[in-house]
Amino acid sequence: MKTLKMKDWGLGLGKHVVIAGPCSVETEKQLDDLCNSFEREPQIGMFRGGVWKPRTRPGNFEGLGDTALPWLQEVRNRLKIPVCIEVANAAHVEAALKHQIDVLWIGARTTVNPFSVQEIADSLRGVDIPVMVKNPINPDLALWVGALERMHDAGLNKLAAIHRGFADPYDKIYRNKPNWNLAMQLKLELPDIEIINDPSHIGGKWEMIKDISQRALNFGMDGLMIETHPNPKEAWSDARQQVTPEQLLTILKEISFKEKIDLEAEIPSNLKEMRNAIDHIDQKLIDLLSDRFHVIDQVGAYKKAHQLAVYQGDRWKNVLQNRIDLGKQKDMSEKFMKSFLVAIHDESIKRQEKQMALEKEVAKTI
Ligand code: PEP
Ligand code: MN
Repeated sequence: MKTLKMKDWGLGLGKHVVIAGPCSVETEKQLDDLCNSFEREPQIGMFRGGVWKPRTRPGNFEGLGDTALPWLQEVRNRLKIPVCIEVANAAHVEAALKHQIDVLWIGARTTVNPFSVQEIADSLRGVDIPVMVKNPINPDLALWVGALERMHDAGLNKLAAIHRGFADPYDKIYRNKPNWNLAMQLKLELPDIEIINDPSHIGGKWEMIKDISQRALNFGMDGLMIETHPNPKEAWSDARQQVTPEQLLTILKEISFKEKIDLEAEIPSNLKEMRNAIDHIDQKLIDLLSDRFHVIDQVGAYKKAHQLAVYQGDRWKNVLQNRIDLGKQKDMSEKFMKSFLVAIHDESIKRQEKQMALEKEVAKTI
């Protein structure tokens, strides 16, 4: 595992930073209204505003470009907090640096493209500026990690990740499905990178922002980026998902920012006991799984000797249904039981295929 050496941002980026501002910068009045609302709100730690907007079809509002940059400088001077914008190529970077933008972010459509990410990284060589990298549109952890590594390799060490969800054509609930476990895997791969959640692009509807934000905090995320507009209904982009400053403050009041357990600090003894119990149970689970795989190997030997197929559909169907029913009796959901059993079954099939002396062929396909 690669560790990315991180530096403190030195921007007063406290824990649970809240980044607020419009999807797109539209008018000076829009920014003025937002500044009036945010001026005395210490919870807002950074201001966002889209200046170059990636639109799926041409003909929609594509951002004001350079015109908006001095306006954002003005916002920073008024609110005394850093401002951040999205950059998608070297020309954007150059313009942003010329206007002393404090923090840059790389959008989901850019993270998918290593050429663009590298172009941005190269244009930032030798520049000391924080960069936040949104997850790619598709649920590919390596692309997300890779983009952060490209930045780091270019000498940038004030990095953060933004979790904005993943496109899923089958999902009916979210605009971009959160796949929380992918964000948690990023945390495991790059423990020094803070993750900011973007509930606006995950939910796609302002009504969903509070619940998504709370879940993000429950998962231990380090901050929130929430699209905020003085008059969301009239917004030039992402109108459906933006909140007013008043709604934002209500949301922030209603969600609870729980502290993370500090592993360095003294852990209370009852928590220690509960964690010890979990460690013992996990040990037992691993022993039991190992016993189960031992029997699986014996069954594999039998199948091989009798020229039977590894996959036995009827047996698997019965096992799955029976275990799901047993799990339900113990208050474990069908979804959980299914994914748990599928993982075990997949591994069993792999082991038995190996036994069938198909190692070489199998290795190519898995
Ligand atoms: C945005 O932040 O307005 C934006 C375009 O986001 P994403 O890259 O997550 O789609
Ligand atoms: Mn947006």
